[in-house]
Amino acid sequence: MIGGGKPMFDKVLIANRGEIALRVLRACKELGIATVAVHSTADANAMHVRLADESVCIGPPAARDSYLNIPSLIAACEITGADAVHPGYGFLSENARFAEILAGHKIGFIGPKAEHIRTMGDKIEAKRTARRLGIPCVPGSEGGITDDVEAKRVAADIGYPVLVKAAAGGGGRGMKVARSEADLESALQSARLEAKAAFGDDAVYLEKYLEKPRHIEIQVLGDGQGHAIHLGERDCSLQRRHQKVWEEGPSPALNAAEREKIGGIVAKAMQELQYLGAGTIEFLYENGEFYFIEMNTRIQVEHPVTEMITGIDLVNEQIRVAAGSPLSFTQKDVVIEGHAIECRINAENPATFRPSPGTITYYHPPGGLGVRVDSAVYQGYTIPPHYDSLVGKLIVHGRTRNECLMRLRRALDEFVVDGIETTLPLFRTLVRNPDIQNGDYDIHWLEKFLAAGGMDA
Ligand code: ADP
Repeated sequence: MIGGGKPMFDKVLIANRGEIALRVLRACKELGIATVAVHSTADANAMHVRLADESVCIGPPAARDSYLNIPSLIAACEITGADAVHPGYGFLSENARFAEILAGHKIGFIGPKAEHIRTMGDKIEAKRTARRLGIPCVPGSEGGITDDVEAKRVAADIGYPVLVKAAAGGGGRGMKVARSEADLESALQSARLEAKAAFGDDAVYLEKYLEKPRHIEIQVLGDGQGHAIHLGERDCSLQRRHQKVWEEGPSPALNAAEREKIGGIVAKAMQELQYLGAGTIEFLYENGEFYFIEMNTRIQVEHPVTEMITGIDLVNEQIRVAAGSPLSFTQKDVVIEGHAIECRINAENPATFRPSPGTITYYHPPGGLGVRVDSAVYQGYTIPPHYDSLVGKLIVHGRTRNECLMRLRRALDEFVVDGIETTLPLFRTLVRNPDIQNGDYDIHWLEKFLAAGGMDA
């Protein structure tokens, strides 16, 4: 018990690896909570294992046998006496069944209620719920589309181009554009096949395909009892293969009135839902209009952008509310100051994006005012080939967007990672690009830039 007798966990097991495991560990330490790291045999030397109070090996390298292995994780909780689990992002973070199994063992889940994970995990259900809560959505089919004739009717109704999307979607998979009725059948077929292969579920739905939107998402926090707030937006329009590469906040495209309006709609919806924990409502934004695409019921990779501009520790709040405490902030307390940009630095060739696992022979992260590096690598560390290629995140804050860009430029120039290839050169190029400097980009900008040879030597 700390924080004036408010309910709090004694020991948290972190069911993740890499930088997010370290991020959660830091929040636990600052709350005075004991930590348990779990790791696969490939991660025995990982930083999160070294820094935790205790660690448990939960299986072999393959994620399905370790980080996704629910019986192993429950056993690790029982052995160590952990009273809650933080799932991080990815792995089991959006697995409603995992949350329920933990509850069955009287172990807390640091995340939303299982019913909300389930609803938002099905994109058709999520859209239905969003519509009911008054959140504006992309025009599209009311529910799933099983019949090609019906698909043609709906597509003609909303107008081409249309996007076929997988109900179980994630990571940009199972998404196909149809520019005319002639393309629709094959788009439906290939989206269904891809969705079946990736998610074991071939349910698809239709959406209007927006030509030049930005991806703008709103961060929310709720206490599960009807108190919910928003913490402004992040602009994640710079994407490659529907994966975010660079995120910033505030969005260069929004004004204060638009922010207040959409933030207010979202916060009200989360109050009505009695949402618990951290979440992100993702929108496409085009011609001054917002269109809901999905909700992520977990902490996101890019959460530090919001932390840097609000000064609020989102993981700390997640833990508090999961333990049954109220939020430590009201909407009035959320003040957005300055500008922040995050670069996701991957162990990949910066032009071909081919993964580059291996040993880091020299490592020197940047420092100084307004510079934050969230990473779990160190000099001599060998990046295992079994997991995603994120080496670390560089997050930079400045009083203005310009100051932030200049600070980012110098921080990127200071950053040294030798022994492997990283995407640092991509960011050094982007930060010097006039479109980026002007904030003038949409979700297709980066793909076009790369296709035009922007990173060719
Ligand atoms: P996933 O869960 O697979 O990441 P999302 O629904 O979040 O799928 O969409 C991922 C990305 O795909 C968006 O950020 C955007 O770039 C693109 N996208 C999704 N829906 C549309 C749409 N209706 N029109 C244009 N682009 C879209």
